[in-house]
Amino acid sequence: MSSPAILDASCIFCKIIKGEIPSFKVYETKYSYSFLDIEPTAEGHILIIPKYHGAKLHNIPDEYLADILPVTKKLVKALGLEIESPEGTGYNVLQNNGRIAHQFVDHVHFHLIPKRNAEEGLYEGWPAKKADMGELKKIADDLVKKLDE
Ligand code: 5GP
Ligand code: ZN
Repeated sequence: MSSPAILDASCIFCKIIKGEIPSFKVYETKYSYSFLDIEPTAEGHILIIPKYHGAKLHNIPDEYLADILPVTKKLVKALGLEIESPEGTGYNVLQNNGRIAHQFVDHVHFHLIPKRNAEEGLYEGWPAKKADMGELKKIADDLVKKLDE
């Protein structure tokens, strides 16, 4: 499929897009390529990547990003994850940026990770704590100001 791809010759995911490294492709558009993760955390663990080389989300042009969530939705339905089961069916969409945030491949990728039971997929582990309302207000006010500029 033709694509307006801007790829990096030494990037493993760019090589996958170009077919230089094999992958189990499940879906492709002009802007994105979706394939099975080689170390799945659940059956049907899919990576959705833009056909544009960039390490982090902010490096990717909007038209590529705009393609990703509708594709993810399509993949969710293809995996049957929209159908509730007695145990509960769910899924996580995960996108890591930076080594400290658990990113190991420096080409933006969105994980679609099925969660059909407690054992498979993503486990919870983040340091949530009760917030101070004054601090929340200050953070929101600062951001609103910056975003208005
Ligand atoms: P990260 O931790 O960077 O968010 O996730 C990178 C993901 O890419 C991992 O889940 C890993 O299994 C997957 N991965 C790395 N190299 C390859 C590869 O060559 N082929 C496929 N299909 N997946 C890969
Ligand atoms: Zn790349």
